[in-house]
Amino acid sequence: MSDQGIIEKVISLCKRRGFVFQSSEIYGGLKSAYDYGPLGVELKRNIAHEWWRSMVTEREDVVGIDASILMHPNVWKASGHLATFSDPLVDCLNCKERFRADKAPKMTPGTSIQFPKGGKKGGEMINGSVGERGYVCPNCSSCQLSDERQFNLMFRTSIGPVDPLDAFVDEIQGKSLSKKDLREKLEEAVRSTAIYLRPETAQAMFVQFLNVQQTMSMKVPFGIAQQGKSFRNEVTTEKFIFRTCEFEQMEMEYFVEPGSQKEWHEYWLNYRMEWWKRLANDKARFRVRQHEKTELAHYADNTYDIEYQYPWGWDELEGIASRTDYDLTQHSKLSGAKLSYFDQQKNDPQTAKPGWRYTPYVIEPAAGLTRAVLAYLCDAYSEEAGVDADGEQKTRTVLKLHPRLAPIKAAILPLVKKDGLPEVARDIVAKFFKAGISVRYDEQQSIGKRYSRHDEIGTPYCITVDHQSTQDNTVTIRDRDTTKQERISIEQALAVVRQRIEAT
Ligand code: ATP
Repeated sequence: MSDQGIIEKVISLCKRRGFVFQSSEIYGGLKSAYDYGPLGVELKRNIAHEWWRSMVTEREDVVGIDASILMHPNVWKASGHLATFSDPLVDCLNCKERFRADKAPKMTPGTSIQFPKGGKKGGEMINGSVGERGYVCPNCSSCQLSDERQFNLMFRTSIGPVDPLDAFVDEIQGKSLSKKDLREKLEEAVRSTAIYLRPETAQAMFVQFLNVQQTMSMKVPFGIAQQGKSFRNEVTTEKFIFRTCEFEQMEMEYFVEPGSQKEWHEYWLNYRMEWWKRLANDKARFRVRQHEKTELAHYADNTYDIEYQYPWGWDELEGIASRTDYDLTQHSKLSGAKLSYFDQQKNDPQTAKPGWRYTPYVIEPAAGLTRAVLAYLCDAYSEEAGVDADGEQKTRTVLKLHPRLAPIKAAILPLVKKDGLPEVARDIVAKFFKAGISVRYDEQQSIGKRYSRHDEIGTPYCITVDHQSTQDNTVTIRDRDTTKQERISIEQALAVVRQRIEAT
């Protein structure tokens, strides 16, 4: 299926079927903030569950934590976020668009261009040439741009019952101050109670390194994993849930012996790539891109991005960074805690004496959970031409989600609302509930419409109770992707669904 219009169709399905809603919609909505509806929350939880299972549950060398979103401000000082976690912000002087310089369309400096005055389509065209910085406005293609200025992405708030603005007002009362002095005083007042919403989940794993290593007797190499909300005051939010100010991450810090980081970096890249592909239909839409030297973050000596080919093109899903010993070293320096590891089995390479104390190097697979929701929705969306029960040409919309990701695993459908069929269906539902498998009882509308509804939300199996069921204790089970039906005994239904989900 072509990519044309897919994203609009996915967004429309998300709203129509209860996957994702605009935040605060009845008040006109909050730009680029979204709420996950009844099906969206299940899909998101299922992806998170698969990640946790592969990264923590099924591994002896990784343990999890769930840290506080608010952390001591020094965490962000040590990590470098306060000084350097910023994006280059530019204003278009022609259409007033505000955008990130590093994401703007690149063009060779000196190239002659034309763009519409004020960014208005069909209006007067202006001639210009691309400046030294080699990019133009992403909205109107103008080269009339402001200077770049750095914009810190962390959300700042204040902690405690004292309003920093009161301190500010007391401080400036009766004084005549310049704009610059006023700004400084305000900054000072705000800084005294400032606290930040975490822009990544990673730092908690470094800060809790010793607690986790000691309480769980972890031996290097080992990892600490976490899932949770992160916040970034993004300059431009875009593409539905792809880039939002509040989002969820799934990150793991894997601590390794110095010198072994290259080997572990390759290992985690392959491991993570395999995970993404295992849950997808079109595996060719995942690729690896190595960062250019100039792109590397200040803490990394190498980074790979796992990218997905979204309907608009290739874009990041997960970053796998080789973070060196930067974070543990920085937190050791600023906190005074000795965030190192002692290996009794090894000789110190410097002195050749038994026992080696070192600061571990770190490999970090950092994935976006909310970006994963969008990628798997795009991967699953399909339209198939077919003929309906009345012989009419019809397009079947199917969400071919991996059965493990599907919000509802099976729909239990009485063919009619009488003759004892609802009672049989409800008994089957109760058995699935007891086994912890998410199923839905559905008796509204014709059976064909119910099948279509469940195809559209990705339910992999429909179990139909018909009149034969009351005679021989059998039901039909319909496969979402092939639409084929087979008869199985009611007694087997739970085991069949469970086995099919587990087998994939
Ligand atoms: P980008 O280049 O797209 O801004 P990044 O390289 O800054 O992303 P990381 O700091 O490596 O992102 O964060 C790890 C992962 O968290 C990303 O691969 C992405 O999946 C997710 N992520 C980061 N920022 C956002 C955001 N604003 N909205 C949704 N997901 C995000």
